[in-house]
Amino acid sequence: MEDSTKHKMVSNPIILQSENLTKYILETSIYPREPETLKELRNATASHPMCFMGTAPDAGQLMALLLKLSNAKKTIEVGVYTGYSLLLTALAIPDNGKIVAVDPDRKAYEIGLPFIKKAEVEHKIEFIESPALPVLDKLLEDPWNKGTFDFAFVDADKHNYWNYHERLLELVKIGGLIIYDNTLWGGTVAWPEEDVPPPKRGIRESALAFNKAIANDSRVLISVASIGDGFTICMRAH
Ligand code: SAM
Ligand code: CA
Repeated sequence: MEDSTKHKMVSNPIILQSENLTKYILETSIYPREPETLKELRNATASHPMCFMGTAPDAGQLMALLLKLSNAKKTIEVGVYTGYSLLLTALAIPDNGKIVAVDPDRKAYEIGLPFIKKAEVEHKIEFIESPALPVLDKLLEDPWNKGTFDFAFVDADKHNYWNYHERLLELVKIGGLIIYDNTLWGGTVAWPEEDVPPPKRGIRESALAFNKAIANDSRVLISVASIGDGFTICMRAH
């Protein structure tokens, strides 16, 4: 007989295991407060074949709050796609704030660009079309960049999260925040491997290793928020 407690693959990027509760939260507290241009960017992304990659709007709302709370002005984004998290960051930081946004896929960025322009925040964004590691290494070559970023958001190739972490810890100031997305990977981090569909296993392995390493990293304070697909929020402690 089928085991009724068997794991359910949660539709990415919603980890909260009740679709009605997720819908309730989105409709009550998220969509009514979502800035118009962000909503438009999300809708324009919806027809894209990889639209599931956009940051979950509830996680995005938390990120906007953290950007405001931390008075973030200078930020880094690793993994832009069509720019949902980028636009929300640009809307949250002050007019003279700066975002270094890195992604090898310029075409996806250009889908969201009209909404970034409409929101009049393009001047805050330096989009760099490249894999992120060499860009972070280049930033680190200049000692003046060290400890100067207030905030970083990582939502790209999951097997490199630890490589990003080591570099971002040098770039972000003490007290600065680094957020990693998809750290619960659809809930599969808590499943036995044999129950995980084979295409999901590689990233699950990366998430397991990253989650273990970050839990043991005394350089950061952390909170693993079970929002979106899992948001690991880190503060550089020293
Ligand atoms: N944060 C985005 C949003 O809110 O819509 C979603 C990002 S999407 C999940 C992942 C992105 O990472 C893709 O656009 C992909 O091109 C990018 N990516 C993949 N490998 C990368 C790398 N080595 N460096 C930077 N970005 C990378
Ligand atoms: Ca993501």
